[in-house]
Amino acid sequence: MAPLIDRSNQREAMVTRQIAGRGIRDPHVLNAMRHLPRETFVADGFEEFACEDRPLPIGHDQRISQPYIVALMVEAAEIRPGDSVLEIGAGSGYAAAVLGHIVDSVHTVERHEQLAETARENLAKAGADNVEIHVGDGTLGWPDAAPYDAILVAAGGPSVPASLKRQLKPGGRLVIPVGEGEEDSPQRLRKLVRTGADAWDDADIGGVRFVPLIGAQGWTEDGRRSASNHVPGQNSGKSLPQMIADAADPLPDIDDPEFGADFDRYADKRVVLLGEASHGTSEFYRARAAITRHLIENHGFTIVAAATEWGGDMEVKEVRPSRGDSFERVCHDADVPQFLLDLKRDDAVRRRLTEQKLERFIGVIYRPETELQSHYAAASLAQQFDAWVWFDETRAITPLDTDKTRDGVPDTYPFGL
Ligand code: SAH
Repeated sequence: MAPLIDRSNQREAMVTRQIAGRGIRDPHVLNAMRHLPRETFVADGFEEFACEDRPLPIGHDQRISQPYIVALMVEAAEIRPGDSVLEIGAGSGYAAAVLGHIVDSVHTVERHEQLAETARENLAKAGADNVEIHVGDGTLGWPDAAPYDAILVAAGGPSVPASLKRQLKPGGRLVIPVGEGEEDSPQRLRKLVRTGADAWDDADIGGVRFVPLIGAQGWTEDGRRSASNHVPGQNSGKSLPQMIADAADPLPDIDDPEFGADFDRYADKRVVLLGEASHGTSEFYRARAAITRHLIENHGFTIVAAATEWGGDMEVKEVRPSRGDSFERVCHDADVPQFLLDLKRDDAVRRRLTEQKLERFIGVIYRPETELQSHYAAASLAQQFDAWVWFDETRAITPLDTDKTRDGVPDTYPFGL
């Protein structure tokens, strides 16, 4: 028998840091997520990642949503005990279980029969016996149990399906991602509230990334809009890589004294934090040294840089090409070998880079075989940074020859400062 691992501490930390820490206040949501064993809903082998801040695979190219997104949607839908609730896209069954923890009964529609079956098993294992899973096209809603106080859609369509709007009670809430998730049409999470027989308030909650909603009032299997869902074409404008290229300040060679001068714009700041987005590149350490030296010598900064060392032999590994939906890829496609991107200076670029994309974080360990699950996270870089420096090609750091360590130097050499 597999050892039983008590993951309640991990869940508590997940709720405190990722959910409450990001501003979710609804006690029903926090309570449900503290109690439900999220690891029961992820694919075998991914249990150890269940409480991490990212979506995980559940088979058939589908994903269990990032915990924060589930919390955000449930909070936005204002779910209260006694509400009648419909979910579209049961997937693993996790979000339905969260809903079922708050209300008496939940209906959820899943188009993949096998996923619906797995979701049923997951829900039974988690002890959630008030969720009914129906197999079908959720873009048509589930008329048998309509109308609903709230409808949550876990997949993104080209527009809001009319059937779902019509299956809301007066005052009912519909939370749904809309948009292609492509560069010129990023997905937005929307909240509609039915205010009358033919009237709905419509609010934008933020940028998101969901799998496609496939059905009569969603996308077709091959990614086109279904015929019944015609909406006017989107204005494409400039591509994101082109916008980045236009906003980027190309940087000279790191050894060129002019390299540091590009960072004069931060001379009036009290604190400048230079962090790394990916480990082990020679360019990061050299650029950090050059910028630090420039700010100390020319602007009176006193900066202490600290680094930590881990054990284990270093291996030089080939990093896979970046994914199409990552920040790395849009920077690469900007086709500028090294640049400084000042997000404070260009509002349009900053807004576009606030949209969630994947960010690859290669830590001390790189596992190319599982890199999507172990090294990519959803991020909103423009919310995290004021600027970033991009090197299109990087090299590994080279270790110092420890045999040549001089006598008498402190044993923190070369890392202690
Ligand atoms: N709520 C899920 C996440 C689901 S991912 C969880 O907590 O795990 C989105 C799901 O929507 C996928 O399982 C996909 O198969 C399903 N889906 C996509 N289009 C659909 C449609 N028209 N009707 C029902 N389900 C749909």
